[in-house]
Amino acid sequence: MTRNEDLWGRAQAVLPGGVNSPVRSFRSVGGGTPYFVARAEGACVWDVEGRELIDYVQSYGASILGHAHPAVVAAVQEAASRGTTYGAPTEAEVLLAEEVCRRVPGVGMVRMTSSGTEATMSAIRLARGATGRSKIVKFDGCYHGHADALLAAAGSGVANQGLPGSAGVPAAVVADTLVVPYNEVPEVSEEVAVVCVEPVAANMGLVPPAPGFLEGLRTACDRSGALLLFDEVITGFRVALGGATEDTGVVPDLWCFGKVIGGGLPVGMFGASSDLMRHVAPLGPVYQGGTLSGNPLATAAGLAALRQLDSTAYGRLEATAVRLQAGLQQVVAHAGLPVQVPRYRTLVGLFAGAGAPVTAWPGAKAAAGTGLYAQLFRVLLDRGVALAPGPYEVLFPSLAHDDDVIDATIERFADAAASLGTYAPSR
Ligand SMILES: *Cc1c(COP(=O)(O)O)cnc(C)c1O
Repeated sequence: MTRNEDLWGRAQAVLPGGVNSPVRSFRSVGGGTPYFVARAEGACVWDVEGRELIDYVQSYGASILGHAHPAVVAAVQEAASRGTTYGAPTEAEVLLAEEVCRRVPGVGMVRMTSSGTEATMSAIRLARGATGRSKIVKFDGCYHGHADALLAAAGSGVANQGLPGSAGVPAAVVADTLVVPYNEVPEVSEEVAVVCVEPVAANMGLVPPAPGFLEGLRTACDRSGALLLFDEVITGFRVALGGATEDTGVVPDLWCFGKVIGGGLPVGMFGASSDLMRHVAPLGPVYQGGTLSGNPLATAAGLAALRQLDSTAYGRLEATAVRLQAGLQQVVAHAGLPVQVPRYRTLVGLFAGAGAPVTAWPGAKAAAGTGLYAQLFRVLLDRGVALAPGPYEVLFPSLAHDDDVIDATIERFADAAASLGTYAPSR
């Protein structure tokens, strides 16, 4: 028995499904033994067998610099030597908050949390508290973490498991959640507190906003008095210096961040104008708190990461994404595979099983249903390339993915595609 198999057996005895987050299991790619990671550096991870994998998971987007970046490692070590948590304010929290306010036009104040889920949950509470309204609008296939009210028709792991939402969420809790199709501007009534959207959807594969979509949401919210929330947990500090807000030019009322701003440690954050944030406790009546919020290690890691991320870095990362997209596109065209390879700035998607560009959830779901992603995932893993083990995730090239790594990826992808032979959809 290999070490991976031994650990997998033991994991399944003490962790539901052997994992601490369902997307990590291989259930949506046909099962099998996940690789247990022993260490990671730059573009690669090594499993406990010593196998090297070119990694496009990158902690689902948390590691934009690549794994174990020396500046981040040093910052965490230095912070840890001064104590890991105090339950009192620190300088690093101020610096990180200032950095975010400086980068994202419109953000006046932020509140830190320990996860993206807490950020979206708290932002919605704030929106409801500030407007005095209860309904929220979310889009089919967008994922906003696992707070009860947001677990309706969500992407990512929820979609992976084929659940419409989740057991354990009372109907009453989602009764005020209205789910509408992505890329179509909905009616926003005067009962709606907030319209939540991934400005670039990246949890149903990669679905960029259609021209006018985000602008239309802005107008519809202004008309109804609802707040507009950009969930930038993936896109924030990933697609541009000021996230999707800077890149699209549409300014929401509320933002959620996570992933990149934690530098690989557990972090989330929500922000808004200072006027809106004054509703949050202790200034206002909307309660929100956390024992480890603004944690010294997480803020140190986040600051160290952001300090590497200037406009040159985003230009370089986009060039990497362009090279990856072009290479993958050429391979699938040559192999005659029905695969779409969308790109938005620094993010690359892979809709295996789609014959045409995907613009909303039904297309993403149909592509996933062909099973081609699962096949590609397996033949790529055999060749040392790790995609996320689910058809609804995107590829996260990092700043450590240099041209050689991208070219090696494309070569292995070509070999993997050829190994599929003549492709026939399973459904
Ligand atoms: C990952 C993600 C979340 C949830 O963040 P966690 O840190 O996993 O709780 C929320 N929204 C979006 C868009 C995400 O991609």
